[in-house]
Amino acid sequence: MTALHIQPGIMDIAPYVGGEAGIDGAGRVIKLSSNESALGPSPTASGAFAELQTELHRYPDGHCDALRRAIGTVHGVDPDGVVCGAGSDEIISLLCQAYAGLGDEVLYSRHGFLMYPISAQSVGATPVTAPETNLTTDVDALLAAVTEKTRMVFVANPNNPTGTYISDSELTRLRDGLPGDVLLVIDAAYAEYVSNADYTAGAGLVEAHDNVVMTRTFSKIYGLGGMRLGWGYGPAAVVDVLNRVRGPFNVSAAAQAAGVAAVQDTAFTAQVRDHNDRWLPWTTDKLRDLGLSVTDSVGNFVLACFDGLADHDAEGADQFLKQNGIIIRRMAGYGLPACLRISIGTEDEMNALVDAMARYLGRNG
Ligand code: PMP
Repeated sequence: MTALHIQPGIMDIAPYVGGEAGIDGAGRVIKLSSNESALGPSPTASGAFAELQTELHRYPDGHCDALRRAIGTVHGVDPDGVVCGAGSDEIISLLCQAYAGLGDEVLYSRHGFLMYPISAQSVGATPVTAPETNLTTDVDALLAAVTEKTRMVFVANPNNPTGTYISDSELTRLRDGLPGDVLLVIDAAYAEYVSNADYTAGAGLVEAHDNVVMTRTFSKIYGLGGMRLGWGYGPAAVVDVLNRVRGPFNVSAAAQAAGVAAVQDTAFTAQVRDHNDRWLPWTTDKLRDLGLSVTDSVGNFVLACFDGLADHDAEGADQFLKQNGIIIRRMAGYGLPACLRISIGTEDEMNALVDAMARYLGRNG
């Protein structure tokens, strides 16, 4: 037994379990477990990273000036409202550190991203979930769950792992229904994949109100998960707070250089989006044809559930796929034990996935 004092809430945290990366005894595997980009990073981002190898003794720019300017130009946001972090995970945890504490409640929807409860509990706050409707964020349920103790509301839009989203007007309705002293965090990690006309990532809400922050990442469409790079966009007062609590050099020089190149390579980003636009509906349709129930995902992954399929279940499928060198993500940790989350990979990978799933289900692919 340790005599050391651990802060309240910390030992209640169920540690985050990431997607598996390998299979014992298997050589090359198809990894569809962490929503990484099927096409990897832009070659110019890899080039910018490689160029830094003789400069590793230099501290990075502590303000990410070039990166914030590049983000501002490409995403149409004010660079002064941008704070960069080691992944959007860092921005999420800094926001919790700054705006929630012991006795406070941090609200999110039932199958929301697991870093919300982890970050809330790590500052002693209580995570609270609101029910979803059809595996989709339910604005009325969130508003009904707000109490005097609520300090923050997280909405992943689109959400991971469900892949579903709420419209611009629903997001506005949520913001308008919240008390002014509650911070709305719109986690738009998958925004670049979404082209639906009624979707917006949330920058407009940030600019119109003083209690809205949007978080974004370079880990998904930009293919830089290993670099750890994300950003938050917020009103001046929130930016000031984040700049006080973050580490002075929280984003490495390599991440900044790769990030600038990645965000500026808009042609490559369009190519990645086109790939997803083709293989997301293809995979959804194929899995539905096999009898699985699949949400209408707009991210770079699908959520496929074994509802009422006799003799076949998510656990069996996971094992079968693994035996065939394919790693996907079990969803029990998200309260969806009958479901699997499958990232959109390359054409060959998606063909292999559907073929293996058909064999598991005893169908012809
Ligand atoms: N938000 C959501 C909804 C995510 O799915 C992820 C990645 N799994 C993140 C945030 C964190 O991404 P990162 O820290 O790599 O930027």
